[in-house]
Amino acid sequence: MDFDYDYFVIGAGSGGVRSSRIAAGHGAKVAVAEEFRVGGTCVIRGCVPKKLLVIGAHFAEDLEDARRYGWEIEGKRFDWPTLRDNVLADVDRLERAYQSTLDSHKVETIRGRATLTGPNRVAVDGREVTARHVLVATGARPMVPAIPGADLGITSNEVFHLPALPRRAIIVGAGYIANEFAGILHELGVDVTLVVRSDTLLRGWDRSLADRLLAISTEKGIQFRFNTVPAKLERRDDGSIAMTCENGRVLETDLLIWAIGRVPNSEGLGLEALGLSLKPNGAIPVDADSRSALPWLHAVGDVTDRLQLTPIAIREGHALADRLFGSRRWRVDHDCVPSAVFSHPPLASVGLTEADARNRLGDVRIYTSDFRSMKNVLAGRNERCLYKLVVDGTTDRLVGAHMIGPDSPEILQALAIAVKAGLTKTQLDETVALHPSMAEELVLMR
Ligand code: FAD
Ligand code: NDP
Repeated sequence: MDFDYDYFVIGAGSGGVRSSRIAAGHGAKVAVAEEFRVGGTCVIRGCVPKKLLVIGAHFAEDLEDARRYGWEIEGKRFDWPTLRDNVLADVDRLERAYQSTLDSHKVETIRGRATLTGPNRVAVDGREVTARHVLVATGARPMVPAIPGADLGITSNEVFHLPALPRRAIIVGAGYIANEFAGILHELGVDVTLVVRSDTLLRGWDRSLADRLLAISTEKGIQFRFNTVPAKLERRDDGSIAMTCENGRVLETDLLIWAIGRVPNSEGLGLEALGLSLKPNGAIPVDADSRSALPWLHAVGDVTDRLQLTPIAIREGHALADRLFGSRRWRVDHDCVPSAVFSHPPLASVGLTEADARNRLGDVRIYTSDFRSMKNVLAGRNERCLYKLVVDGTTDRLVGAHMIGPDSPEILQALAIAVKAGLTKTQLDETVALHPSMAEELVLMR
């Protein structure tokens, strides 16, 4: 059978753009449909603008600390519209760069919402086409709870466009987005409260790091309400939002942000009509090669809810295009994936936490370094770094590394190579320290 395209990709985000480009590079005739903006969540309203805001917000501390280093800065003042508009302009630049990558690889971009209308059939705004292979790379969207008044709150999608910063903000959630935006908004002068449904911040992260973030955040002035579940939101006459909690308590705020997880974008695509059953949270079930139960249909990235991280979506899309249209067969290893929470200060982690390692391996050695960075010491900033190495007691192999402190994501990326390569603690010890640095702690833990 002849098809209009070899490969039709739904969603021009991290996974879709990479997969289309690689497939086209292998000579496939490729089209990608995008209903919003080329670049997807990471570029348009995720990693990139978030990280720029993190950098922008950190100047608050740097300018304060600068005094101890002899710098007097008169009349410092923060202007949110300047930061917001410069970040949004950079997002526009990146969107154009992604579009030009697609164009230069001869990937046809089709604007509009795509749906599956039958086997190997896709419709975009009334136009129906056929494809030998179809990739669903539609990502995920912020979850909003089904409570009265929930739409008085915003999500990470809207936060990048705020006309002005509020005086007070409540962020519901205690994961990546909640802690990142708590840091950003607090540094920019907003009175921030995190509303957490349990007593656990950053579930799944090494406990001692999460506890350290809690201690530092509290010291900075971020407030926490644990074991607090929102029941309804109401707008007050003065424009503020009143959040009534399940325990009857009422919290008041000027801005409320939902940061309670992301839901796979799988509904309305026509998947069920094709006989495909979804996971309870809407994720598309796929095998290790990103194949769905239908031989012509594949899915990568957040819509499969394996690990909701950009480098994972990119790799999954790349491996799939190589398998379908190239000669290289490889699989994405979802083990030992480094990630970071860009809070103030950031956390970074790879491999097993101490608790996981104790459960799985039994015999475990833990090394920690708890110190103040040189910069913080002179600045008089009482903020300590915590580095933790988790070592398999039987093999001496490094099985996990966890850090909180300035630049920890930058440092951990390099250390992740050692964990992935299965290097031993002895090999770390044999490496000479680079002095003076924070990272030297990694080879000095005894
Ligand atoms: P996406 O990048 O979301 O792309 C999906 C695309 O499909 C979108 O452009 C969407 O408009 C389009 N689409 C959906 N349905 C249709 C349809 N029916 N027809 C046509 N088009 C459609 N990850 C990190 O690794 N590091 C970070 O620092 C980080 N920070 C983040 C910060 C925030 C605030 C958020 C929300 C996420 C962050 N992430 C981060 C996660 C990361 O953005 C996602 O894991 C990644 O973008 C997933 O890529 P994807 O290709 O699966 O989906
Ligand atoms: P997370 O999964 O990180 O955190 C969700 C938080 O919301 C948890 O604290 C969870 O609590 C809580 N929660 C879940 N449901 C409810 C509810 N109904 N009511 C109240 N609280 C609730 O999700 P995020 O939204 O922060 O981010 C989504 C994903 O995007 C991340 O998991 C990550 O994969 C990706 N991301 C990555 C970033 C990075 O790499 N730096 C940055 C931002 C996002 P509990 O622990 O009790 O379940």
